[in-house]
Amino acid sequence: MKVQTKILHSIPADELTGAISTPIYQTSTFVQEAPGMHRGYDYSRTNNPTRAALEKLIAELEGGSRGFAFASGLAAIDAVVKLLAAGDEILAVDDIYGGAFRLFTHVYQKFGIGVRYTDTTDVTKVAAAITPKTKLIWIETPTNPTLKISDIRAIANIAKTQGILLCVDNTFASPAAQKPLDLGADIVVHSATKYLAGHSDVIAGIVVTKTDELDDQIKFIQNASGAILGPFDSWLAIRGIETLPLRIAQHSKNAQAIAEFLQTQDLVKNVYYPGLPDHHNHAIAQQQQQYFGGVVSFDLKVDETGVATQLVKSTRYFQLAESLGGVKSLICLPSEMTHKSIPAAIRRRAGVTDSLVRLSVGLEDAEDLVRDLEKALRIATGRLTVAAR
Ligand SMILES: *Cc1c(COP(=O)(O)O)cnc(C)c1O
Repeated sequence: MKVQTKILHSIPADELTGAISTPIYQTSTFVQEAPGMHRGYDYSRTNNPTRAALEKLIAELEGGSRGFAFASGLAAIDAVVKLLAAGDEILAVDDIYGGAFRLFTHVYQKFGIGVRYTDTTDVTKVAAAITPKTKLIWIETPTNPTLKISDIRAIANIAKTQGILLCVDNTFASPAAQKPLDLGADIVVHSATKYLAGHSDVIAGIVVTKTDELDDQIKFIQNASGAILGPFDSWLAIRGIETLPLRIAQHSKNAQAIAEFLQTQDLVKNVYYPGLPDHHNHAIAQQQQQYFGGVVSFDLKVDETGVATQLVKSTRYFQLAESLGGVKSLICLPSEMTHKSIPAAIRRRAGVTDSLVRLSVGLEDAEDLVRDLEKALRIATGRLTVAAR
C-alpha cells in the first residue's frame, strides 16, 4: 500500500456508528461494567479513542510500533528527555530549535542532565563529542533555520555501536519526506503544529518509538506526566495528516522555485535550501529525503536588522509570524523572533546572522509568491541606499 492510501485507510470507520470521520470523544472518563472491567478506555489522560486513532496513524506513517500525542512539540521533547536520569548527557545539534535549547539548557541542566552542542552535519564531530555520560543524541535534519542536513544513517550507526539512543526531530521534513526510524533512529519527535497538522490551527506534539522497551517507557511517561493532546486537537491533527503527502509535494515544489529565484537576487548573500545543488549536504539530503521541504532561508549582503526588518514587513502573501508548515506562507526574522532566546554568539556561530530571513513557503501559487518577494527585495534595497547615504 502506498503512503497516501495508507493514511486514508489506517483508521477504520467508527465501529459503533459507521462515522467515516473519527469521532471526537470529548470525555474525561468511561463507564465501567464492573470495577476494572472496561472496553480499553478508563480515563482520557491514560487513553482516549480519538487520540489513539491519531497515535496509530502516526506510528504507521513513521514506520514505528507506537505513537504518542502530546499537548505540544515541546511536551513531546520533554517526554523523551525524561528517559534520562541525573548524570546523563545529551549530545545535540548546535543549530537546534530554540525551544529545545531552552528546555535542555535552562530546565534539565538544573536536574543534573548535561547537554553539549556540536555540528552534527559532520559525523566525525559527533563521534568526537561523545563522552561516557552521553545517553541520547539529538538531531534535527533539516535544521531550523539554516536547513543543515545531518546523515541519519551514519549517526545511527555510531549511536548503536556505543549503546546511545538517537532521537530525530522530524518536524521540518515530515514522514512524507523522511523516515528516520527506517534509517536507524530509535525515536522520532514532531512538532505536529507544523506540517503534520499543516493548517496553523493547533499546537501538538508527537513521539514515535519502535521497540517494546521504549514503547512502554514513553507510554509510562506520557501517563505519569500527563501532557497529553486533547480529543479535538487530535482530530485536527488527523484531518491535517490526511493530506500530508500532497501538501509536502507542493510545498517543496514552491520552495524550490523560490530558492532558485532568490539565488538570482543582488541583495541576497546565501540561500539555504537542501534542494539546491550547492547546498553543503545536498547529496545526503537527496539520499535520505524524498522531498526537500517547504522552508527556505536566506541572508542579505548587509548584515543589518534594519534592512532585513524592512524586507519582512514588505511582503503581502508572506505574513510576518513565527511558526511554519501551514498552508499559508509565513516570513520571519529568527534573530528577533524564534531564536531570540539563544545567546547571540551561539546563534551567529550556527549561521543565524541578524539579516537571516526564514520563509515557510505555503500553498499559494508559486508565481505570486516569487513576485511578492521580488517587490519586498526592491523596497528593502531602497532602504539600503538611504542608510548608506
Ligand atoms: C516548533 C518546533 C518545535 C516545538 O513545537 P511546539 O509545537 O511549538 O511546542 C520543536 N522542534 C521544531 C523543529 C520546531 O519547529
